[in-house]
Amino acid sequence: MNIDFFIHNINQDDISKACETMKSLFLTTGPVVAEFERKLALYLGVKEAVGLTSCTGAIHLALLRLGVGPGDEVITTPMTFAATATAIIQAGARPVFADVCPKSGLLAPEAAETAVTEKTKAIIPVHLYGRMADMRGFARIAAKFKLSVIEDAAHCIEGRRDGARPGQLSSAACFSFYPTKSITCGEGGALACDSSEDADWHRSARHHGISKNAAERYFKKFQHWNMDFMGWKYNMDDIKAALLVNQIDRLDEYRLRRQELETIYRERLSNVSGLDFIESPGKDEISAHHLFTVLLPRKANRDQTALRLQEMGIGCAVNYVAVHNLSFFRKTYGYKPEDFPIANEIGERTLTLPLYPRLTNKQAETVCDALKEILC
Ligand SMILES: *Cc1c(COP(=O)(O)O)cnc(C)c1O
Repeated sequence: MNIDFFIHNINQDDISKACETMKSLFLTTGPVVAEFERKLALYLGVKEAVGLTSCTGAIHLALLRLGVGPGDEVITTPMTFAATATAIIQAGARPVFADVCPKSGLLAPEAAETAVTEKTKAIIPVHLYGRMADMRGFARIAAKFKLSVIEDAAHCIEGRRDGARPGQLSSAACFSFYPTKSITCGEGGALACDSSEDADWHRSARHHGISKNAAERYFKKFQHWNMDFMGWKYNMDDIKAALLVNQIDRLDEYRLRRQELETIYRERLSNVSGLDFIESPGKDEISAHHLFTVLLPRKANRDQTALRLQEMGIGCAVNYVAVHNLSFFRKTYGYKPEDFPIANEIGERTLTLPLYPRLTNKQAETVCDALKEILC
């Protein structure tokens, strides 16, 4: 592969910090996780962050904290990774999709409002491609119907919209540190919230619902632990936190570099007939610029185009085939492609091009030229 789809940003200092941690006695959830949590919360401008093993686990716990369970419905977007919906099912509830805005691909507040029933407990907008969903719009709907909002912020730690950042207008924002995300530790996640009570609950829930974690038992005097409620095993460990903690300092530098690359893509691909872009963020908005996707001309074959790009040595991906079209969701809930026509069309036309700080301008231009060659 000449141009990889993604290259992560773990550097030698991150590795040294992880090595240092591995030479210490304490490897599970301890002081480095606490350091990471403080730093992430500070970056986001929220009270608390809780280190977890995945974003999927974070969404699952956020739903459980709201008391969501069997018989409940949770509204989300079909234009997301399957995990947004599977976390709802893990909590015992039913995922109900609502269609997206054609220009941005983001969950449309009006569509979500139409999907509300008396069983609805929560809405999970996704900050797709790095651009924040209309959180003030969802907050209004939540207030009107007495619902909660949870953010799938796997694509957006860095964003800001209408004066708010992830975690500030919801019960919880959920993050992923999977290898293709803007910062990574291999596999990992976090939840951010503005309530210390919620964070305390999550710190227990990530570890079986046990009252004292290993750090408290190790660093403090002998004390019995108890199990207060049914929890899960989602605790981040100190090695992962060591890899992540200093990547937080580089988030905005990386975001700006991705933004530059996106400008190159938009300029160099602007004259391809039939090719559409996802709308740029508004003037006062900060997007994380997590993914750059194009909507291929309607007459083009997306899968063939992806294959051709791969053959030319260029990595690409599809983010995403609409979730309601995946076999499991069709079989289990009876969804049909035409139920959400906009997400369906984006899912058929979308192609994601390489976007990461280590991609050079020259490489971005090569990607554009290869795509043009295939399409013309
Ligand atoms: C990556 C991703 C997830 C899942 O994150 P994990 O940490 O792998 O659980 C969820 N939602 C979206 C939108 C993602 O891109």
